This record gives sequence, C-alpha cells and structure tokens, in this order.
Amino acid sequence: MFGKILIANRGEIACRIIRTARRMGIATVAVYSDADRNALHVQMADEAVHIGPPPAAQSYIVIDRILDAVRQTGAEAVHPGYGFLSERAEFARALAGAGVTFIGPPIGAIEAMGDKITSKKLAAEAGVSTVPGFMGLIGDGDEAVRIAGEIGFPVMIKASAGGGGKGMRIARSAAEVREGFRSSRNEAAASFGDDRIFIEKFIESPRHIEIQVLGDSHGNCIHLGERECSIQRRNQKVIEEAPSPFLDAETRAAMGAQAVALARAVQYHSAGTVEFIVDAGRNFYFLEMNTRLQVEHPVTELVTGIDLVEQMIRVAAGEKLALAQEDVRLDGWAIESRLYAEDPYRNFLPSTGRLISYRPPAEGRWEDRAVRNDTGVYEGGEISMYYDPMIAKLCTWGEDRDAAIEAMREALDAFEVEGIGHNLPFCQAVMDHPRFVAGDISTGFIEEEFPDGFAGVTPDDETLRRIVAGAAAMRLVTARRAGRISGTLTGSPLPVPAEWVVTVGERRFDLTAERLVTEHLRTEEGVEIGLTVKGRDPLKPQILLHGQGSVRVGFADGQTMMVEGDWTPGDRLTTATIDGVRMTVKVERITDGFRIRYRGADMKVIVRRPRAAELAALMPVKAPPDTSKMLLCPMPGLVVSIAVEEGEEVEEGQILATIEAMKMENILRAERHAKVKKINAAAGASLAVDDVIMEFE
Ligand code: ADP
Ligand code: ADP
Ligand code: MG
Repeated sequence: MFGKILIANRGEIACRIIRTARRMGIATVAVYSDADRNALHVQMADEAVHIGPPPAAQSYIVIDRILDAVRQTGAEAVHPGYGFLSERAEFARALAGAGVTFIGPPIGAIEAMGDKITSKKLAAEAGVSTVPGFMGLIGDGDEAVRIAGEIGFPVMIKASAGGGGKGMRIARSAAEVREGFRSSRNEAAASFGDDRIFIEKFIESPRHIEIQVLGDSHGNCIHLGERECSIQRRNQKVIEEAPSPFLDAETRAAMGAQAVALARAVQYHSAGTVEFIVDAGRNFYFLEMNTRLQVEHPVTELVTGIDLVEQMIRVAAGEKLALAQEDVRLDGWAIESRLYAEDPYRNFLPSTGRLISYRPPAEGRWEDRAVRNDTGVYEGGEISMYYDPMIAKLCTWGEDRDAAIEAMREALDAFEVEGIGHNLPFCQAVMDHPRFVAGDISTGFIEEEFPDGFAGVTPDDETLRRIVAGAAAMRLVTARRAGRISGTLTGSPLPVPAEWVVTVGERRFDLTAERLVTEHLRTEEGVEIGLTVKGRDPLKPQILLHGQGSVRVGFADGQTMMVEGDWTPGDRLTTATIDGVRMTVKVERITDGFRIRYRGADMKVIVRRPRAAELAALMPVKAPPDTSKMLLCPMPGLVVSIAVEEGEEVEEGQILATIEAMKMENILRAERHAKVKKINAAAGASLAVDDVIMEFE
C-alpha cells in the first residue's frame, strides 16, 4: 500500500479523498492556487504545495506543476478527483512516465471514453444500446441541418469533448439547429479547446440513470447499482438518489450487465460510471462513460456501505477486489442535494462572495437515518469566481425513499448559509414537490415545474397559520423583554398586550396571543401537580420543580394553536412545536417583525398592535424602479459580443448580446419589439449583476 498520495484537486472532493486516505493510514499532499491558500483541503492535508495563480488553467490543470509537487513531496500516487485533470489521458501518461501511480483507470480506457463519438462507437460494438443519431463529425451549419432532418426533430447537438453539461443544445427546428451548432461549437472551443460537434436524437422526458462500475487490474469487474440524476438544470445534476424509483430488478440487471460489458471492453479498472438516458418505456440508451469518481458517488456509498475512494486506492495499489457481484447489497435509500452558490431566484446563475455564515446540520449515522455533508468550505471563507460554485453535498439516508426525503427536509431546515445567493430554498422546494415525492421525475422536471424560474414557495394555509402563530409567540418574547427593561424604572414590568395583527404580504391575521406557564410543583405533602397559569412569572423556587412556557394563539375565526419553543432574540435558527407539528425555521428580526424562511418559503411576517397596523395600512407603497426599458446583465460576466446597434429596431426573440460566465455562453434576447436607444457596454467589458447593458426607447 502507498505511504503517501497527492490529491490533484481542491474543494470538497480533495477533502473527501483526504479523509479516506487518513483512515487507511496514508499521508496526504494537497496542492493549492493563490486563491486557495487558506482552503479547507490545505488545512486538512499533511503537506501542501503551492502550484500557481488562481485560474485553473495556470495551476490545477498544469500537468508540470502537479508533477513538480509530486517530486517535491515524494508522493507515490495521485488521485485526480473529478473535473480538472481527472479525464486527461496525457496526465495519466505523464505520471506513468515519472513512475507515479495514477489512482484511476488505464490510459487506454480514458482515451477511448474521453471522446463522446469514439465511446459511442465502442459502446455499440460492445452490444450496449446507444442513442440513435449520426456518429460522425459535422462540418458546418448546413450539414447539421441536413443530418438533424434525417434523425428527426428534436435533436441534441453535442460537443464530442463535452462535459459538465457544456457545449450542448436541444434543437426543435432547422433554425435552432443552425443557432445551436454555432453556440455549441463556440462553447466547446472555449471550454475544451476542441470544437468537434455531433448530433443525436433528443430523447423526450427522459430520466438520467447511471451505473457505478468498479474493476481491478486482475480482470474483475462489478457494478454497484444505479443512481438516478434526473433533477437537472442546464443539463447538470442538482439532486441525485440511489436507487432509482423508476427501475425494476430486471432493468437494473440489464443496465448493470451492459455497463460491465462496456467496462470490460476497455479493460477498465478503478471506479467509473456508465451514464444512460432512460425513456418512459424503460428503454435505456448509453450516453457516455465517466472514467473517474463522480460528484454524486456518496449516495452509492450510503446504500452499499462501500467506500469508493478506498476501493480506487486499493485497486491502484494492485490489490484484487475483495467483493464479488453477489456481495453487493443495496440497503435503504440515499439522496444528495448539491448546494450551489447559485441564485435560484435568478435562473440559477452563479453568485460569489463570502460565506458570512455556514453551519451545516449535524452529521452522523443513527439507527434509521444518516446525514453526511461533504464540503470544502468554512464559515468566513470565500466562494470565488475561479472554480465550481459548489458549497456542499448534503446527503441523507433512510430505510426507504420517504424516510430519506424526510431526513433531507430536516437536514436542509437546519442548514444555515448566509452571505451569498444559494439554492438551498430550491432544494427544499423540490423535497416537498408532489411529483418529486411520487418519484415521477424526468430531466425536464425543473423546466416543467418552474417554467418562469423559482420565485420561492407559497406555504399552504395551515403552514402559514403555524408560521403566523410562531411569529406572534416570538413577538411576545420581545415585548416581555422590552416591558422588563422599561418596567425597571417604575419597579414592575409593563404588561404585555394580547391583541396583535400579523401580516404576511397581502394576508392579514387578527389574533390574540397569551403566554401560559405550566408549572410542576410539589406540595408540602410531597404530591406533584402540574398547573397551567396565564402569563405571570414563576412561583417560589422551593416548591417549583420546573416551568415550561408556551403561547396560546387565538385566530379571529376561532382556531387556536399552541406554540412551544425556546426562541430568544439573537437565535437565527429555532425549533418549535406549533399546533403539534415540529418545525425548524430560520429567523431574522426586521422592523416590526421577522423574516422567516421555511421549506423554500421566504416571508416577511409583520406583527403589530392593532392601532399600528391601521396606521401602517395608510402608508403609501413605494413603487419599484422601472427597468422594463433596459437590458440588465443577469450575472457577473464578460461581454462576448453586442449584436445590435444604437438606433436599431429589434424584434421579440432577436439576439441582443452574448455574455460569458463560468465558461458558458448566455444569449440575451429581446423580450419584445423595441428600438435601441443607448448601448453602455462593448465586447470585452466585464459586468456585474444588474449592470445596464443597453437602454430602449
Ligand atoms: P458528474 O456526472 O460527476 O456530476 P459532471 O459532468 O457534472 O459530473 O462534472 C463533474 C465536475 O467536473 C464538475 O465540477 C464539472 O464542472 C467538471 N467537469 C466536467 N467535465 C469537465 C471538463 N471536460 N473540463 C473541466 N471540468 C469538467
Ligand atoms: P456531460 O458530459 O456534459 O455530462 P452527457 O452526455 O452526460 O453530457 O449529458 C448530460 C445531460 O444532458 C444528461 O444527463 C441529459 O439530461 C441530457 N442529455 C444528453 N443527451 C441527451 C439526449 N440525447 N436526449 C435527451 N437528453 C440528453
Ligand atoms: Mg454526463
């Protein structure tokens, strides 16, 4: 076994690999760019080597820099993680040349599978079913249109070197093929330095289901079941699970057998993933093979109990797999939510900045549930523009799918992230979405269910009332405090009023809120009794065993709710039992009330005395500024091109500008007919969110 390994990666995956290496008694070396000087993976590793400036192209993916770090530290093997150099055959070759072991598959397998066109041909030869389409290269837009016509619309235009959802476009018409061909090719050239494009049939309402394979260098190869990754935005995964709610034992076995056959065809060893797209009739088609550890591998680990990183290290050290196919048992259900620094309210565009607060839920394995959080960040750390905007991978395990979902809801409730835009409320919304809960998902789920983007969740009426009752109870706490402080001047606390008006947006609730104290007493005869009294301070301590506060809220329509909790001003996360339901909510104090976040809903809950509410209703509402005559930059990015000129009339749908952010081209189009009055940005300019690109008349 190796004595020391180097991890040629950063972030959560570097941390995750270090954890397993440490458990195996292997020393670890981290590498870092200037931007990662204080990163968690650097803190965790036994040694760390600086490899260059922040852009990955000048540090993490410079093969010579990694080789230098290997020489400097005497590491015997390198784990590449995912992304970066993980699927670069020349990297594995360079390591071999230096006598260092690559913790990954053989070079031939990386080469064969690294290219989507080649791998598709190989898969077809190995008897794996592939997506119908044209398996050659496409030269220009005209040829693309002709081939798309032969395949039949809709089609998927793809970069042969593609990855990470980049360089891919759906086209439903000849015009879209022409446009998609152009933008895919540009994106592929910019992201992969390789602009080869091919076209295949677009499978309608498909599910993305992939098989985890594991092989050794002695000819053994097994699969560890599937993961379903159908919840995607921009063809990239957000929520994954294992197993898939869609597969039956027969389909699972057939997919597993084909995945293993493909792996064998390229003498695969190490961990790898064969991705399939599955249609409504459970027909499955090969998409690509990822010759590396996959982002979502933890869900497989949670249901199989197998540590994939450990297996990769053992196989790389020449060991035989200790497991046979029959030894692989799937136990329970696991879900992963990828927490991204992406603003769900702004079409999931990346957001960067400092993590003012970062407090994940408690991790652990209990009898009927487990919580695991893989991360590379810490409170006070920075999510920079240089790398993947992932904050954490939150995974839960339960005995069945419902239990895993419920555990995920609770874990997300307890997860505090502040300071940057992030998709936590969106993940919460998915966990409560009836289609997700029913397992009725496809890769179109996000687009179909959130066609106008994510605007937050509107809680159902009962939940809203519980939140209103909770806010009223918190208001009593602040009122009691205020009463005590001003009361000290006169000697006794000021009474806390019972009547309140709570407003949430347009909704108004008139209610009464009273504090009740249940006191458990022991009488002089030694008899214990419980006594519920209204709002006064506790009895003499000698006879009081303990007192428990609760608040009774009475709504105008007669409904009453009991609130039991222990919120005190300053708590940003609190758990209360309201009307018998346990709820964990995020709380922030604002003028006259609270901002409350719960399960994807984000509300301003205003609690006022009736008289103050009457006066507030008379206040004029401030109108938001009119931005309808401007084109605003939707994300921080670089202007690639401006497609129109001042004075030009544009039609709805016409391209106005192209912005590049995180290596992705985003085309901004006219929403309606208009005349361009002024253009404020030129190609090459770097813009911030909401910068005005152009103005219309
Ligand atoms: P997974 O299927 O494991 O989720 P993805 O395709 O989403 O894999 O990619 C995993 C990670 O690797 C992402 O962070 C993505 O940005 C990065 N990545 C994937 N392909 C490439 C590539 N060719 N070059 C650079 N980074 C890549
Ligand atoms: P990447 O290398 O970027 O991961 P993939 O080929 O694995 O690219 O595709 C990523 C996602 O794009 C898939 O999970 C799926 O949602 C969608 N996709 C790819 N090809 C097709 C297709 N032919 N039909 C429908 N959806 C597809
Ligand atoms: Mg893929």
